[in-house]
Amino acid sequence: MTRTLKEESRDLRSSFEVLTDRTYSNMLAMATFIANDSEMQSLFLAGGKAVEAEGGGAGGPKAAGIRRELFERIGPSWQRVQDRFDVRQLHFHLGPGSTSFLRVHRPDKFGDTMHDVRHTIVDTNAEKSPRVGFETGRVYSGLRGVVPVYATDPDSGEHVHAGALEVGTSFSNIIKILDERLGQGVGILLSMDHIESAMWPDFVKERFGEGEPGCDCAIEAQSREGLRPILAKMPELGLDFRDEDTNIVETDETIHVVTHFPLRDYKGMREPDREAVGAVVFWRDATERITAHRRAALFNIVYGIVGFLFVELLLFMAFRFATERLERIVANQTKDLEGKARQLQELSITDRLTGLFNRLKLDSAFADELERRKRYHNALSVILFDVDHFKRVNDIHGHQAGDRVLSDIATLLRTSVRQVDIPGRWGGEEFLVICPETTLEGAMVLAEKLRGAIAAHDFGEIGQVTSSFGVACHDVDESEDSLLARADRALYRAKEDGRNRVMAG
Ligand code: GH3
Ligand code: MG
Ligand code: MG
Repeated sequence: MTRTLKEESRDLRSSFEVLTDRTYSNMLAMATFIANDSEMQSLFLAGGKAVEAEGGGAGGPKAAGIRRELFERIGPSWQRVQDRFDVRQLHFHLGPGSTSFLRVHRPDKFGDTMHDVRHTIVDTNAEKSPRVGFETGRVYSGLRGVVPVYATDPDSGEHVHAGALEVGTSFSNIIKILDERLGQGVGILLSMDHIESAMWPDFVKERFGEGEPGCDCAIEAQSREGLRPILAKMPELGLDFRDEDTNIVETDETIHVVTHFPLRDYKGMREPDREAVGAVVFWRDATERITAHRRAALFNIVYGIVGFLFVELLLFMAFRFATERLERIVANQTKDLEGKARQLQELSITDRLTGLFNRLKLDSAFADELERRKRYHNALSVILFDVDHFKRVNDIHGHQAGDRVLSDIATLLRTSVRQVDIPGRWGGEEFLVICPETTLEGAMVLAEKLRGAIAAHDFGEIGQVTSSFGVACHDVDESEDSLLARADRALYRAKEDGRNRVMAG
């Protein structure tokens, strides 16, 4: 939006400049046309001579007579030209510099010098060549075309320079055309400093009063009403009319797009460092356009926020989903790992063939039970048993059949002992049962029960298998090795005594 506005304001500036250039050409053409009238040339030359003879400035009665004659010659046609071509000033200046000989538009004001304010005239009189430019004079500000006037000197018969002729117009016509064509207000502002440095004080008061409040400027011309409230708003928006800028200025219920750019006078055009004398201002009602734009902008913002929130939500959900997935994966893997650890743990304490506890576990369980016994003074017994003539089983039926026997015995063992008893494979075809809170008698009963169960079991092709048992009950302060050695010795005795029996150690 701002870019479009800036582009539009560039177009405005060039429209203004094109039209101003055209106006200068017209002024120059008209001045040239009038300056070519030979009777006017003669009167102007005579007037100049009379002023010189009568002491310069306004001159005396002779100069006054010639001035009147010149006015009468030019006056009637001036009226017509003025109306038709929208010119405002026709001014005869004597050189060098600028001394007013006749203002056709204001014949009662003459004889004043304007060396310091009317540079177009001073330059034309000095260079004897035409000049154009915007300039503020004593009475008017205007666009001016100035040409040198030559005349035939009746005394010498020579073609001599008589002075300068100026045709001027105000900005009103230009801004009227621009307003009609572009459909927007156009105004010309002059800075109060500039006005006060060029114009007669009476005329400043008469035309501009104190200038525009807060602006330090005066409205030289405006194509329509409405510039004043905009100017009043500019200071509070921090806008300086001398800058080149385009802004949105709101007054009451109207939103304006206001474009302004510096106005340079004739001198300022030649000396770019000089401050601009004023500004050209364009303003257009953009209430609908801006409101629509603001609505669109608001919509975009809301849309943007909603879009942002939506994307955020998506991200959040994606993140949550991913996290949940990750958590699930981690949980599953943890469970897996825990399972595997459990398996490993079980494997490390289990005998693969029989599924009973292995010797490692029996050792640690034994140590635990011994601790408990010491603390609570419970009884603790062990049963150690060994399969009889197992070598033969292997030899006759093979190693695998032997394995099956061991596995079957393990099953019998598991089903025969109590929950608190700890059965395990001690090694080879030897088994150990740790019996917590069990006296020697209790352990003997259990051993006998086991012996009977094994002896009664049908081992298939192998037939009957027997085992010999050694039982021992833990004595106070006895070591593990000692207890097991006693059980082992009892077992040995059971073998000695003919096997398939239980002996206490
Ligand atoms: P007894 O104990 O009655 O004196 O005679 P035995 O034949 O059982 O004597 P010994 O202890 O010398 O033999 C044990 C045999 O058990 C030796 C070994 O080959 C066998 N054995 C040990 N562990 C296993 C096993 O895991 N599987 C099989 N099939 N045989 C085993
Ligand atoms: Mg053995
Ligand atoms: Mg044996």
